[in-house]
Amino acid sequence: LNPNKERFTPQEIDVEKALRPLSFEDFTGQDQVLENLEVFVQAANLRGEALDHTLFHGPPGLGKTTLANILANELGVGIKITSGPVLDKPGDLAGLLTNLDDRDILFIDEIHRLSPIVEEYLYSAMEDFKIDIMIESGPNARTVQINLNPFTLVGATTRSGLLTAPMRARFGIQSRLQYYKTELLTTIVQRSASILNTPISMEAAIEIAGRSRGTPRIANALLRRVRDFAQIKGNGSIDIEIAKFALKALHVDTNGLDEMDNKILLTIIDKFKGGPVGLSTIATAVSESSETIEEVYEPFLIQEGFLIRTPRGREVTEKAYKHLGKVKHNIQGG
Ligand code: ADP
Repeated sequence: LNPNKERFTPQEIDVEKALRPLSFEDFTGQDQVLENLEVFVQAANLRGEALDHTLFHGPPGLGKTTLANILANELGVGIKITSGPVLDKPGDLAGLLTNLDDRDILFIDEIHRLSPIVEEYLYSAMEDFKIDIMIESGPNARTVQINLNPFTLVGATTRSGLLTAPMRARFGIQSRLQYYKTELLTTIVQRSASILNTPISMEAAIEIAGRSRGTPRIANALLRRVRDFAQIKGNGSIDIEIAKFALKALHVDTNGLDEMDNKILLTIIDKFKGGPVGLSTIATAVSESSETIEEVYEPFLIQEGFLIRTPRGREVTEKAYKHLGKVKHNIQGG
């Protein structure tokens, strides 16, 4: 259930598509972000201009790709989707850019992973809607400048810290997505269940929502698995008993923490007496990069009160000890 690693079968891709909100109205949560986007989209529509380049940052599974698609729908334009690691050469990018219609969206996921040459190539496209392309080869090789249709680049990144300053500066609109509170995720679970024609009790929806790490993608994935249990072991509808039974069988953490979350907390407790301990020391101990811990794992652990940041480093809280069934040893008390 790692939102980064989930792989889908073709049938699941269809389900995934069906669950994806298509308009601002369908989209639950992120109110502040949405309110602003609605204004910018209306203004762009009114003027018949392309929306300013837009950057979404935040942990995986919170709706960045969904919002890019919603923007295209609300602007009434087409969208082309690619990702940083896929764009190897400027030529790949040129192909995409020259095929964009007026006001279309080019969505680049994991934009922090663009190669430096591709990134530089993107700058003039974003700024002046112009690119240089190389024609012919050998002694006749030369570059010509071509004009692009005005377009909107929508970039998504889980690691805004890795984005270069010049890249970041080219986005007129920048929105950070936050983890979803359980009440919002409950609404999302209910909406998804109704799309999947699966009756679900309020209590069961809350249970699934509360174990979804504040992440709609995880909530939907859990719902699909619980629905399997309901259909095979129950009568097809999801009540609290079947939900609890399924979540237990799936080994889903009661607080929605994933393996790495728990590993980070356990490491701080077992190896560093609960902290405070520096970020890079934790990173080495759990074999993950400091940036990923800081941008992907820590925000949720802090929001949920398992971890605090102090001037001397990271410290786990009483709640983390309780959650992991550990006892805190006081230095004075012994
Ligand atoms: P990201 O691009 O940030 O990794 P996605 O946009 O792919 O995340 O969202 C993951 C899934 O979660 C989507 O398929 C969508 O169905 C669901 N989802 C995300 N945000 C919402 C939301 N606010 N309301 C309902 N469903 C959502």
